[in-house]
Amino acid sequence: MSTSVRGYAAHSADSELVPFAFKRRDLFPDDVEIDIYFCGVCHSDIHHVKNDWGGEEYPIVPGHEIVGRVTRVGSSVTRYKQGDMVGVGCLVDSCQQCRSCKHNLEQYCNDNTLTYADLDRHDGTRTYGGYSEKIVVTEHFVLRIPEGLDLAGAAPLLCAGITTYSPLRRWNAGPGKKVAVVGLGGLGHMALKLAKAMGAEVTLFSRSPGKEEDARKLGADYVVISTDDRQMGSVTDTFDLIIDTVPYNHDINPYISTLSVAGTIVLVGYLGPLDPTVDSAPMVFRGKSLAGSLICGLLETQEMLDFCGEHGLVSDVEIIAIQDINEAYFRMLKGDVKYRFVIDLESLRKQ
Ligand SMILES: [Zn+2]
Ligand SMILES: [Zn+2]
Repeated sequence: MSTSVRGYAAHSADSELVPFAFKRRDLFPDDVEIDIYFCGVCHSDIHHVKNDWGGEEYPIVPGHEIVGRVTRVGSSVTRYKQGDMVGVGCLVDSCQQCRSCKHNLEQYCNDNTLTYADLDRHDGTRTYGGYSEKIVVTEHFVLRIPEGLDLAGAAPLLCAGITTYSPLRRWNAGPGKKVAVVGLGGLGHMALKLAKAMGAEVTLFSRSPGKEEDARKLGADYVVISTDDRQMGSVTDTFDLIIDTVPYNHDINPYISTLSVAGTIVLVGYLGPLDPTVDSAPMVFRGKSLAGSLICGLLETQEMLDFCGEHGLVSDVEIIAIQDINEAYFRMLKGDVKYRFVIDLESLRKQ
């Protein structure tokens, strides 16, 4: 018996999100059913809804920063029970066979299943995300939310948190390391908090003055105005690692100049060709690297949540009712949010 669920969906690239009723599958033996409490609003939700990357099929129920409580489990589920507080991120399934899956890098599986706007690998139905009352997810893709974390603030950890945590860990952010972050949005503010908690010296690159106070509260030791040549010149050959969260095309050459010898700049926000193109000379002469990173697999996502639990780290959020989602998208496109909208799904149940 499948379950009827209410949510919010977009029915075309140029329509607003509206109430939408659909079914969640009945539980397979390894499935967990979750009552969704909170769902973060990620920029990629807007990209999918607006068909910015092409190839979308509608309706789309977005949402991949999900926190909620387990209501039922299938007969073979061992790690979760009714009442557990859990999370679901960007993935709900993968092939479990390939090299990426075997190395706990399910995000790089060629046959993985996105939480929404994808096809369920068992029954071929479309996947619907967290702007809804309930979700049914294979146990392997369910994460445990540490006790004591604010639940609304924890929701964005499932995408914004892991997107920034993973490259910080992979490139060894920690004591004695200088880490810089480009962009102060949903991703950037988490990068500052996480890098600081890991013990690194943290710098924010900002295009304009006025963000110093906020940046310092979030963990930045320094702020460098990237449009000020003198300030940029003062940090030449400085940073071991730069996390670049900017979601649109921009000139990364000035940032490469600020990397130390053998330093790495990691792109996590922008997908596409860089213009102006990248000058290889500083990379060759100074051994610098340009890299990219996408969320991470389930093992490291759990490690990130546990790290946030130990350090009491959550996202700075503005909680909204689902009825206000279209207004929230409008404000996000203007950069008018500190730093993540999170939907309280109680607003959907009361509707
Ligand atoms: Zn996301
Ligand atoms: Zn795989």
